[in-house]
Amino acid sequence: MLPIYDIQNQLLVAFEGDSSRVVIEAPTGSGKSTQVPQMLLDAGLAGEGQIVVLQPRRLAARVLANRVAEEREERTGQTVGYEVRFERCVSKSTRIRYITEGVLLRAMLEDPRLSNISVILFDEFHERHLYGDLSLAMVKQLQQESRPDLKIGVMSATLQSDLLNDYLAPCVEVNSEGRMFPVEVEYLSKAPRGDVWDEAAAAWKKCAQQGLEGDVLIFMPGSYEIDRTLRAIENWQESRNWEQHALHAELPPERQDAALKSYDRQKVIVSTNVAETSLTINGIRTVIDSGLVRQARFDPNRGFDALTIDKISHASAEQRQGRAGRTAPGRCIRLWTEADHRSHPAATAPEIKRVDLAEVLLTLHGLGVEDPRAFDWVEAPLEKSLARAEQLLSDLGAITEVSSGQRVVSRLTETGKRMLRFPVHPRFSRMLIEAGERKCVQPVAIIAALCQGKPLMIRKVDKRVVERRDDVLGEETLSDFSRELRAFEYVRNKKFHAPTCRELGIHIATARQTERLAVRLIRQAESAGLSLEDTSVSEADIRKCMLVGFADQVARRKDGGTLRCELVHRRRGEIERGSLVRDATFVVAAEITEVEKTKGNLDVLLRRLTAVDPAWLTELFPGECVSQDQMFFDASTRRVLATRGTVFRELVVESSGAADPDPSEAARLLAEQVLAGKLVLKQWTDAVDQWIVRLNCLAEWYPEAELTAIDTDAKQSLVEQICFGAFSYKEIKDRQVMPVVKSWLSEPQQILLEQMVPERYRTPDGKHLKLRYQEGKPPVLAAKIQNLYDMQAHPVLVNGNISVVLEILAPNFRPIQVTQDLPGFWQDTYHKIKPELARRYPKHEWR
Ligand code: ADP
Ligand code: MG
Repeated sequence: MLPIYDIQNQLLVAFEGDSSRVVIEAPTGSGKSTQVPQMLLDAGLAGEGQIVVLQPRRLAARVLANRVAEEREERTGQTVGYEVRFERCVSKSTRIRYITEGVLLRAMLEDPRLSNISVILFDEFHERHLYGDLSLAMVKQLQQESRPDLKIGVMSATLQSDLLNDYLAPCVEVNSEGRMFPVEVEYLSKAPRGDVWDEAAAAWKKCAQQGLEGDVLIFMPGSYEIDRTLRAIENWQESRNWEQHALHAELPPERQDAALKSYDRQKVIVSTNVAETSLTINGIRTVIDSGLVRQARFDPNRGFDALTIDKISHASAEQRQGRAGRTAPGRCIRLWTEADHRSHPAATAPEIKRVDLAEVLLTLHGLGVEDPRAFDWVEAPLEKSLARAEQLLSDLGAITEVSSGQRVVSRLTETGKRMLRFPVHPRFSRMLIEAGERKCVQPVAIIAALCQGKPLMIRKVDKRVVERRDDVLGEETLSDFSRELRAFEYVRNKKFHAPTCRELGIHIATARQTERLAVRLIRQAESAGLSLEDTSVSEADIRKCMLVGFADQVARRKDGGTLRCELVHRRRGEIERGSLVRDATFVVAAEITEVEKTKGNLDVLLRRLTAVDPAWLTELFPGECVSQDQMFFDASTRRVLATRGTVFRELVVESSGAADPDPSEAARLLAEQVLAGKLVLKQWTDAVDQWIVRLNCLAEWYPEAELTAIDTDAKQSLVEQICFGAFSYKEIKDRQVMPVVKSWLSEPQQILLEQMVPERYRTPDGKHLKLRYQEGKPPVLAAKIQNLYDMQAHPVLVNGNISVVLEILAPNFRPIQVTQDLPGFWQDTYHKIKPELARRYPKHEWR
């Protein structure tokens, strides 16, 4: 009997009653995914409703549903069904539904109360996918607000139960120890030099030669590495008696099922992370782990997520190792060194901390959440990522700000609502909707797919290939993508024939991947009701679709001869050499790379360009092209100039001549230059700086006086006051400074300042010595010993509250002692040093 049955009673009690929240932790293979839903159903705890089991992976949803249906001796789709992004197998009688996380959220968009669901089980919650987090938050809110009868369970083999217990409180935690056999872990003795698949195949061969018992499971990051591993294994003659299988999401279902079956012969399975905890494969005694995982991560170059291959965490390595010890003692070979192991992270950051939030934010808006900052997240996202996502959604026209009572909130627009129907990144849903209207869905879907991969054309190719490209594909000056599109269509017509691809210098793997993605996008467009008819596609329409999808990356070239550009939102950048788009003044970039060349200086490179006509901006974004005076400081003439023109998201689209600069804006621009140190006011002396420092010190030391310190903003406004009425450096250069700065204080306050924090200190021998003030530090007074002879008490300021730091100097002005205790100096140090000093400086007085 499976270990989960040891805790069956506890579980059923925990799920009884309203508003139950249960956290279930039990090792992989215990029976969480297959048994818990059946237990609840058979105990009648689901009432008339459905039990939904949320899976982070499509493959797991299908396999689990099939397995449970089989256990119940039924066909899938009867009592037990599944539903993933592009596939559903359910019927009216379905009571247990295995679904992926996105499916639940889309169900919530249709029916916010989820009325036909009684129990929601979040499986594999430790994976912490964005949509898993979001679904749990939404379901928790639903249970609290209007569905107290809804039951929530969160399951995993390895949970951060503290976080969850806090988040779900009050909740019941149920644990099962399960049974685990010891697994012997081996590391490589030195860092591998070859490819990871060769390393894995070699490790497998060694095991096979030694004659191991049971099956072997190899973990690889993705399908490509899996294929390479299987090919490498095939090359060893030891493989002849072995069953060899791949397991990953892109395989057809029959091949996935074949990988999971038991055979008479020994079996080696090469799998992605899906075998880490989601699926139980019986009979594994040896695990070979590449230590790598492919995961999504925000790619700032492209403005959406990219898949990267990362080192797995310690937690993940431990889970993978556990797969070898389920039924008997096992062995795990890690294809990295023990030293390298220390450089692996302890745990994987949840997706919400590392991926693009635009899509999830759009979904949240669709679910009626207007303020993502007030949302009860399992773990809150970074403010930076949230702000970036909001800006993008607003640039895509998906959300717009509206005032609601006192507050300003963001709401979905009509376009935003339509975008929700596409489960893809908002850039691409926006492009597809535009394409639907312009009757060019198919080519735009291909371009959207091209955007998501590496450039189709290999960059460094020899002259023959370049000539061949020009012959076959023709010239191109309007869009880097038009050429990619033509190249793609050409090789697709030739069925991705390898020699044809080679002849044109085309990445064949990228081409195939593009095809898969494009097909998927076209299917989505069709199911969202877009027309696929495209009899006479206009090239300009395609470019307009690019413009709306990347509307946050529109740029204007400064002039014909340069690659430098200004972008919307006041960014600047440079067009990458090698773009086919040479003559256009306005472009939209599908990739923007920021490289830090020297510290603090970003080089912003614009890639994969499409030319746009500035008139399109008014056409496509009415209301966002506004007529405005633009003022700027012209460094060569050192004057503030103004032009009248049309502005799109802070980018000047068109200027129609000079205008009169507004005086307060001119003062602001000049003040900015002054504060940045680019323009120097002659009257801004050290005395001015010291006066400000004295004021700021006094404000801190003597709060009773309620003086306002001069901070950066205040400085800016003072300098603006000085510059007011001027439009050029010439006019401000000699302006008075001190009187304006002093006017910050009233006259009595100025007198108080002179008393409390004087510029100079009078010593008993009648000298006025300068005090040095610095913010956040006590004032410093440097004085020769002879100046201090009649001074017994230590000097103080501000009614005795601030003790001065005395730098006591020898006759040659070298400091002898720095002290805040003058009496102590007289008593102690002075006597010790006096004889020596008196000998060296006999002409001075020595008391
Ligand atoms: P958990 O979710 O706790 O990891 P599961 O419910 O997936 O565990 O699996 C429980 C047990 O059911 C496994 O130990 C395995 O023996 C069996 N099992 C699950 N799925 C399959 C399958 N597709 N084929 C064969 N056996 C399976
Ligand atoms: Mg499971």
